[in-house]
Amino acid sequence: VTILCYHAVQEGWGSALTVAPADFGAHCRWLAAHREVVPLADAVSHLDARWRLPGRMTAITFDDGFRSVYENALRELARHGLPATVFVVTGTLTGERPTVDWVDDPPPTPLATLDSGELLALEEAGVTIASHGHTHRVLTSLSDEECERDLRRSREVLEDLMHRTVPFVAYPRGEHNARVRAAAERAGYSYAFSLPEGPEPTSAYAVPRIGVFPGNGVRSIALKSRREYLPVRTSRAYPWLRLVLKGARPPSRRVG
Ligand SMILES: [Zn+2]
Repeated sequence: VTILCYHAVQEGWGSALTVAPADFGAHCRWLAAHREVVPLADAVSHLDARWRLPGRMTAITFDDGFRSVYENALRELARHGLPATVFVVTGTLTGERPTVDWVDDPPPTPLATLDSGELLALEEAGVTIASHGHTHRVLTSLSDEECERDLRRSREVLEDLMHRTVPFVAYPRGEHNARVRAAAERAGYSYAFSLPEGPEPTSAYAVPRIGVFPGNGVRSIALKSRREYLPVRTSRAYPWLRLVLKGARPPSRRVG
């Protein structure tokens, strides 16, 4: 079983980044009945040698820190007693990244991000807050120092806000390489999360997750949260297999 990755939870604007609230509610109902959804901290301590979770264990994560997680996802998580983690672009909190300009196909109304009060309320409600970098720049495009600085600053902003250590980071767009993984470790994280679109190295600094996309129904969640799915999703044969795996449609390009 694997770690799931969502982005926004709101009515779609034709983007791969959002899941409709009604679909998300159905996912939560199914996961609560059929899976053991655990906090990410528990999940990482149970990963096997191939970075998969045992038994029916899974974890729910959200990238980008969109306000729709607070407005639309939280009540469904709470209703079913499901823990989750939100990876936040901390420049949105400090004003250095005031608008969401990293989405390839933004909606007509700019996407709102979580403010400090909402982050604290989410943690209070059992949702873990973690880092998605400070600026959402693609880390592989930065120098070693820029990359480390971006990741370290993000961790420090969150630790100041939450008054606890922040051990988790998810790479913007899932992009990483050996330099980025080393920078994440130097920046003080214990685990970093990726979003593989194909064969990729895996380690504590590249823990793979599976993206959930619009139109993914309960059947897709059942499939994607299966232990067998991750090796399939990251295999070279996936572009052909996906034609067979109806309902597991990935986006046509990499997403946030
Ligand atoms: Zn992102």
